[in-house]
Amino acid sequence: MNETKHNLKIFTTVNEVRAFVREQKQAGKTIGLCPTMGALHEGHMTLMRAARKACDVVIASVFVNPVQFGPNEDYDKYPRQFDADCKKLAAEGVDAVFHPTPEEMYPAGYGTYITVENGITDVLCGARRPGHFRGVATVVTKLMNITQADKAFFGQKDAQQVAVVRRFVADLNIPVEVCMVPICREASGLARSSRNSYMTAEEKQAAVVLSRSLRKAKEAFEHGEHTAETLKTIVRAELETEPLAKIDYVDLYTYPALLPVDVIDEPCLLAIAVYIGKTRLIDNVILGD
Ligand code: AMP
Repeated sequence: MNETKHNLKIFTTVNEVRAFVREQKQAGKTIGLCPTMGALHEGHMTLMRAARKACDVVIASVFVNPVQFGPNEDYDKYPRQFDADCKKLAAEGVDAVFHPTPEEMYPAGYGTYITVENGITDVLCGARRPGHFRGVATVVTKLMNITQADKAFFGQKDAQQVAVVRRFVADLNIPVEVCMVPICREASGLARSSRNSYMTAEEKQAAVVLSRSLRKAKEAFEHGEHTAETLKTIVRAELETEPLAKIDYVDLYTYPALLPVDVIDEPCLLAIAVYIGKTRLIDNVILGD
């Protein structure tokens, strides 16, 4: 175990985390977990702050989880900057960070995976990234078990992920409260993401079209347009004004059940995935909340 000057404890093994958690629980402290893949930005910090506010002890994890990446995805080139991450976590008053190796999480002989099979992983990113949510559900279950967290914090940026986590937490009776934190954006409207660092300045400017397209649809919704097909058309039309944008999907489902919808009369998720150059970005808005 290492300790930075701001008292951030750095753990790389499950046993170290367990010992720390045991101590904290014995002292009657509540534990907040913020799972991340690192390359931390202001969006992650909003999770840390929410956890800080709601729990006595905050544990962040920084782990680029190989199991949630497909064979042709960006696992190898995903940004890794653990020292910078620790400085940010320490400045935010996070108590401990768990930064395991892939072998610590998936030792030789590993063979257990969590799959959510009620259909919510068959749409949106689940449909485009086979196995992604199996990897997410598996690692998040492990992190919840390792940290014994009372509350776990996730961003609305990955709204389908929150729906999946809420589902398996309920289904498996995991004693944790799942908290969703709003999307943190740059002043331009671009949702903050570790993958934004892949883009050139020109691409970053083009990427503002994602949030702009969702804003237009939200405005239309607020002015009484509740037909799903029309709202999706508004988003598509705006995205098509940007030559660097290539649509992966524009979809609208009930939230959190993620069922098809024609006319919005309950909370719904309008979600998009768009390539800007080679970078795949996601964004969303919840309508009728
Ligand atoms: P990641 O490191 O990308 O796996 O993200 C870790 C957590 O931070 C997830 O729960 C994300 O939804 C959340 N997160 C990432 N970007 C943002 C953002 N811009 N606003 C709010 N939460 C975010």
